Amino acid sequence: MALVKTPAIVLQVYPYSDTSLILRYFTPDLGVVSVIAKGIRKSGGRGAGVPDVFSEGVATIDVKPTRELQTLREFALTRTRLMLGSDVIRFSGAAVLSELILKHAGEEPHAELFERLGRGLDRLTATETHDPLITVLAEAWRIVALLGYEPQLDQCVSCGAAIGDTEIARFDYVAGGIRCAKCALQNEGPSAPGQGKHAFARDRQALPARERSSAWGPRVGPQARQELRSLVGGQVPHAVARRSGHVHLLAGFVRYHLSGGRSLRSLDFLLTQLEG
Ligand SMILES: [Zn+2]
Repeated sequence: MALVKTPAIVLQVYPYSDTSLILRYFTPDLGVVSVIAKGIRKSGGRGAGVPDVFSEGVATIDVKPTRELQTLREFALTRTRLMLGSDVIRFSGAAVLSELILKHAGEEPHAELFERLGRGLDRLTATETHDPLITVLAEAWRIVALLGYEPQLDQCVSCGAAIGDTEIARFDYVAGGIRCAKCALQNEGPSAPGQGKHAFARDRQALPARERSSAWGPRVGPQARQELRSLVGGQVPHAVARRSGHVHLLAGFVRYHLSGGRSLRSLDFLLTQLEG
């Protein structure tokens, strides 16, 4: 058993018994770690000692590697991020970042990813953030890229040709990037083989039939491609032309590469907020 003191962001909180809580943290060195906080609810209900989701602090944890649930000794709050609760786009966006980490980060140390998540949550919290949805898109794409799934946007995933400045290309979820106009036409249809150059590209033929038909993404024109480039680079463009289109595209990409063919619940929820 080792006593570990580490920066930690709260990803999930749920009651365990009348007096205890289970928390899931993201940390730079332990990755995602589940802890039990004993006795924290003694005061009854959500007292001052109960950390809110998305808050950050320094956790002191008894770590036993053979155990799935570790024991929390202390959590000293440094940031509450309560502002997130005041706006549904900010809050559901924070849930998207958190769900990406929960689904995919595992127990590996990843200091850069920790820093990025903290910064993303801070940006969503900041009152001067002019358009929270575009911030959500940029931060989510950045996390996707840091997890090893950066989409290929400048060269065709099928033939490798550079995508022209005025070309209407098409997103291919399975291959992990954009197909040039010619390849998008040639390989139109649900059963075209995926020939992406990415290590994470998946074989279209191996997909279950119900997934194959939705494995094609939308057409991507020059403006949308430029917007995507900025977002994947973590830049926040002042505006994007088709807001829910961008969320659909992110959701489709994540479904094929990061969440095992299922939609991310937080992204579905975000879409219902945009599309009413
Ligand atoms: Zn091509």
